[in-house]
Amino acid sequence: MTVQQEAPGGEALEVWIDQDLCTGDGICAQYAPEVFELDIDGLAYVKGADDELLQAEGAVAPVPLPLLTDVLDSTRECPGECIHVRRVSDGAEVYGPGAE
Ligand code: SF4
Repeated sequence: MTVQQEAPGGEALEVWIDQDLCTGDGICAQYAPEVFELDIDGLAYVKGADDELLQAEGAVAPVPLPLLTDVLDSTRECPGECIHVRRVSDGAEVYGPGAE
């Protein structure tokens, strides 16, 4: 079952990581272990709604509303500047290095 989560503005958000820029420090997994995890290659990946690690580069996962603050803290603190949060509806980056 896919659960749509919405940000306070009413927009469903999703998150992906650019593994090419990930430093593997694990800050994201400390802030939001329900959403981010380091794989055996030492890089961070997102987790799907069923807690499954999505091991494809650039895989996209929904941002659960209760975890939005943790995800945004991760995005802000990520030294690789490689965590991207975007709107599901139009794919626009709303938090992260590509946000306006
Ligand atoms: S915080 Fe950024 S650089 Fe660090 S492990 Fe997570 S995605 Fe990679």
